[in-house]
Amino acid sequence: MGLKVCSLFSGSSGNSTYIGTERTHILVDAGLAGKNIIAGLQNIGVDPSELKGILITHEHIDHIKSAGVMSRKFNIPIYANEKTWAAMEGVIGRISPANIRIFDNDMDFYIQDINVQPYKIPHDAADPVGFSLCWQRKKISITTDLGHTNSKIIKTVMDSDLVILEANHDLNMLKTGPYPLQLKRRIMSKKGHLSNEDSGRALLELVKGRVTHVLLAHLSKENNYPQLAMDTVTGILEAGGVRVGRDIVLDMTYRDRASNLYHLK
Ligand SMILES: [Zn+2]
Ligand SMILES: [Zn+2]
Repeated sequence: MGLKVCSLFSGSSGNSTYIGTERTHILVDAGLAGKNIIAGLQNIGVDPSELKGILITHEHIDHIKSAGVMSRKFNIPIYANEKTWAAMEGVIGRISPANIRIFDNDMDFYIQDINVQPYKIPHDAADPVGFSLCWQRKKISITTDLGHTNSKIIKTVMDSDLVILEANHDLNMLKTGPYPLQLKRRIMSKKGHLSNEDSGRALLELVKGRVTHVLLAHLSKENNYPQLAMDTVTGILEAGGVRVGRDIVLDMTYRDRASNLYHLK
């Protein structure tokens, strides 16, 4: 028994996270080719035909690329709010009416024994959300693709056991890097992405709650690299009196492979 979580892939090039209990298997986002997601699931011993739902955070292509394909191939319901459905419908192709599930951002719901609580996040998409998923007293939150945090998000997420938290870019790499100015501004904006520093500062708040495990996620390929994200966040935590490795486990997700699989019991 317990709640399992594994980031299959994470980054600006595609995102998909597996969360499951003994009887319920869920994906949050399906932003890579179907064959990659299927292989990722099989590597951790999950049969894709047993998936009970794909939860969609927002309609950017790195989150929905194979949602339609996976739904049609394995008859999986897709869960998204109304505005996200409207924004992605033309991209993911025809979905069987029985597999179109619409949630309200402010209302939690169940997929079998897993409770799903969406929460609004500030990002430049139609109606983007993060998700908290609970099984019994265990809680996991996915908090990526947000330009900034606010007290409501921190409050929702801080009683999680494990958080997948965005550390998108290093501010200096972004500023001096090759992106066009407009794109740099978009990423740095209040509705863009969290920098490594933002992520560290958010974590200082989150560790005041129940959070014991954090996976840094959605790293930019051009404007970040895993060791830099890890070092920056670790530096901010330790300067704030949090001992990484003792008070909190800090781990990484990857663009091209799965993270460690965590089993919360
Ligand atoms: Zn994204
Ligand atoms: Zn996005």
